[in-house]
Amino acid sequence: MTLFLSKLANDGAALVDVFTITRCDSALGVTAATSQVDRITYAKTSSGAGQDRIEALVQSAGNVVISAVPNGTNIPDGAGNMIPINLVGGATYPADANGLIQVAYCFDNPMFGFDTAGNQISLPRSVILLHELSHAFHRANGSFDAADPEFQAITDENRYRAQVGLPLRDPNNHNGGQGPGDGLQIPTCTGMVPPGGTGPTGPSPCCSC
Ligand SMILES: [Zn+2]
Repeated sequence: MTLFLSKLANDGAALVDVFTITRCDSALGVTAATSQVDRITYAKTSSGAGQDRIEALVQSAGNVVISAVPNGTNIPDGAGNMIPINLVGGATYPADANGLIQVAYCFDNPMFGFDTAGNQISLPRSVILLHELSHAFHRANGSFDAADPEFQAITDENRYRAQVGLPLRDPNNHNGGQGPGDGLQIPTCTGMVPPGGTGPTGPSPCCSC
């Protein structure tokens, strides 16, 4: 019924990135839910692709859990094998037996994708998370495009890219790799800090990515 941050992963990093996606909207909150997850609360006070998507996820009928994990963490590849997350950036899984849609993403490894001219463009960490949350949103709302899920997610990703002034990604090219690409980052949302988390990492500075 909402959006959760896994305390088994780096919940402080995840909170920074959700806060970045909302463009440091002070209405974002976090509360303890269980020993394993914190719950995001949010009713936006400003609008934009990022704020709109986080609010929709918080109000969604689905249960989405975000795990921010470091470079080198092995995750299931969906085909029965494990893969280092830094090779793919992130992954979103269909709802499990408990109805949880799990999102995992790497928060500390530079990655790039491609624009329509084939140039390498950066995938800042909040962009990677926003992309995975697009898959999660559509799974939670029955709108998942199983025929072309990457076109769907990159189209959503591009709405956030446009909001923060980053070049757009080619929605027909899901390729990418490790490295800074064009080096462009998300512009800061100035001097604010996210609400204090209850996890081991506590509050983190905003928009350091
Ligand atoms: Zn994707």
